[in-house]
Amino acid sequence: MVLGLTHAGAEDWARMRALQYGRLFEATKLKVASHALAAVASIWLFRDVAPLSMIFGWALLLGTVVAYGARVDLAMHDVTRHKLNAQEFRRQVEIAALTGLVWVAPVAWFTLHAPDSARLELWAILALLLTVSAVIIPAAPMATVAFAGTVGLPVICGFVLTGALPMALITCLFVATIMLGTIETSRHFLMSRLGEAGVAERNEVVSLLLGEYEEGDADWLWETDTNRRVRAVSRRFAYALGMEVSEIDGQPFVQLLAGAAWANGRFHPSMHDLAERLKRRERFANLPVQVVVRGEKRWWELSGQPRFDEAGDYAGFHGVGSDVTQARASSEKIAWLARYDTLTGLPNRMMLTEALGEAMLYAEQWRTRCAFLMIDLDRFKAVNDTLGHLIGDQLLARVSDRLKSLMSETELCGRLGGDEFAVVIRDASDLSRVSRMAQAVIDRLSEPYTVESHTLFVGASVGAAIGPRDGGSVEELMRNADLALYRAKDGGGGQQCMYEPALLAQAEERRKIEFAMRHALDRNEFHLVFQPVVDTGDEAVVSFEALLRWENPELGTISPAKFVPVAEDTRLIVPIGDWVMKQACIQATQWPRHVKVAVNVSGEQLVDANFHNCVVSALAMANLPAQRLEIEVTESIFLRDAAGARLALERIMALGCSVALDDFGTGYSSLGYIRKLRFSTIKLDRSFVQGAAVGNRESLAVARAVVAMADSLEMATTAEGVETEAELALVRKLGCTKIQGYYYGRPMAAAETLTLFQKDRRKAG
Ligand code: C2E
Ligand code: CA
Ligand code: CA
Repeated sequence: MVLGLTHAGAEDWARMRALQYGRLFEATKLKVASHALAAVASIWLFRDVAPLSMIFGWALLLGTVVAYGARVDLAMHDVTRHKLNAQEFRRQVEIAALTGLVWVAPVAWFTLHAPDSARLELWAILALLLTVSAVIIPAAPMATVAFAGTVGLPVICGFVLTGALPMALITCLFVATIMLGTIETSRHFLMSRLGEAGVAERNEVVSLLLGEYEEGDADWLWETDTNRRVRAVSRRFAYALGMEVSEIDGQPFVQLLAGAAWANGRFHPSMHDLAERLKRRERFANLPVQVVVRGEKRWWELSGQPRFDEAGDYAGFHGVGSDVTQARASSEKIAWLARYDTLTGLPNRMMLTEALGEAMLYAEQWRTRCAFLMIDLDRFKAVNDTLGHLIGDQLLARVSDRLKSLMSETELCGRLGGDEFAVVIRDASDLSRVSRMAQAVIDRLSEPYTVESHTLFVGASVGAAIGPRDGGSVEELMRNADLALYRAKDGGGGQQCMYEPALLAQAEERRKIEFAMRHALDRNEFHLVFQPVVDTGDEAVVSFEALLRWENPELGTISPAKFVPVAEDTRLIVPIGDWVMKQACIQATQWPRHVKVAVNVSGEQLVDANFHNCVVSALAMANLPAQRLEIEVTESIFLRDAAGARLALERIMALGCSVALDDFGTGYSSLGYIRKLRFSTIKLDRSFVQGAAVGNRESLAVARAVVAMADSLEMATTAEGVETEAELALVRKLGCTKIQGYYYGRPMAAAETLTLFQKDRRKAG
């Protein structure tokens, strides 16, 4: 084992040889010196008995072999790192044997040629050399044994041959002693090397551990005694606590970490967790603990395990810790971002969904109800489009502040996206409370806002759904609240609507309409009807309004009030509107030259890039002068893309077409665009006409104002929806220029319009 001849597993063998031979280079210098000395002494012995050339040749040979051996030894310098391989080991032994053989040469020569005294002197020199190598090179026992063997054996033989038997015996003993002694010394040497290596290895582990933890400047080792008091405080640990080592040593661990909060007992729950584990002597890893360092809350991650003394008794805890405040802050930030809306700071859709899920569970558990309110701002788009996103964003932030101020403990508001908000009401056992909340939201959000010196008016519509009554799942409840919201918005905004199953049926119908409408043009299901507009003065027809009709084999006759909004939402209104435009123009050519045709155009059509082309080609195809085409638009077109809509209208006007403002008074009452665009006619909505006729003062006031304004802007006015004699009298008194209504004629088929002129002619004739 010590010699390196037995193999205790290749890995161990190499490692052990490395431990031995690693020290060899230290002895090499001494070895070379001792050989040189022995050589000089031998040469002095030879000087008279041997020829000079032989002495010189031998010295050269010895020098070469020893030098080579020294080189091999020095090459093993770093052997502790790479471990000694068998080849290196063998080479080392071979060289030792070779060196021995070189020394044997003079022995052989002397035995034959020299006197006994000289032979004894040479042997004394060799014995010294053997002793020296045995003593100074315990690192390489096998080499020494080989050397002693190769030298000793011929010497013994020499003594035997010359009859010096006692000398042979003594030499035998000497060589044996040297060999055994070498092996024994080497064993000790190896043992101590192994011991050293063990210590080093342990040190390595410790420094590795320390290195790893001390490297990052926030990590440290900690240790407590059986009383959970801090012991063996490291500087780093003290630094992490923002204290001196002396202040900390012997302090209760948990109390140290909790800081001032310890006294009032208001420390973070994580501290209880830690204390509990220490008490139970339970090992823990990466336990997050909120500590207080210099009055500042920080997050630490602690790992620890109980330690035991030699007798196996519990001696306290030890472990490592690190400050993870920063990492935690960023992961908290990420978690926050995932659950909150960055613009308003309100919970986002994800968190609202979660909250609704919890509210539904709660409702199920306690057999109560929860509610989900969906809120949509009215006219927000107009603000965004006219004043820009920066103002829009600020407005949204104000809206959220107001919304938040309305919430109690059991309600949570959030932003679903865009101008859509929502409220989760955990306890909706009292249904009137839900509608009170909805109304409060509408009222509060409808109050004017001041953002960067702009006074802004936006309203809100609310749709509500009650769980579990209106839906068993979060998705269903949200969808139904959305349906209710849709209905509320449909009503013109500023309203709340509670979900009812009929809404689902309507939504279903809407879906059906949408589906059927996709093929309606191809299947020729559309046709136009025309309603006459007469001059107030002479009651002569001045124009017809083209009104779209749709007859579907399955759905029957569907009112435009129902299908036009669907067509607008799906943008199917663009190809449909194109068809209407062409049909209307064609029909107009059948009427007298002074009779115009009015065509309703939706906002979606106006902002369509192809709208101008559509008008031009319709006029060209029908060969109708542009002056005979009137486009009817409502105020709603200015809500979306006001600039785009205005531009489109100006291009149509440039062709010679006129533009009428439809349903006036019902929409977004900002009069700015009336001054900017030269409308030919303002159509007073039917509701004012009928309202004023039954004595509604407000309707009358609006009607008067509209007529006065139109007059001052030199625009014509058309009173819509005149059905009765009384209404007719009223609009005459108001001074409207034109009248449209059942009183003069219902929307009629194309062919029927022609009979009107025949009657006219008959009347005139
Ligand atoms: P609108 O432009 O205000 O059209 C006038 C509506 O009032 C028509 O309803 C007409 O039938 C109705 N009306 C006319 N006189 C009277 C009356 O004396 N009493 C009552 N109660 N109603 C009267 P209609 O045809 O159902 O059209 C509804 C709406 O559908 C239209 O309102 C218009 O906004 C839209 N629309 C119709 N055709 C088209 C179209 O081709 N394109 C577009 N984009 N929209 C259309
Ligand atoms: Ca119209
Ligand atoms: Ca109208």
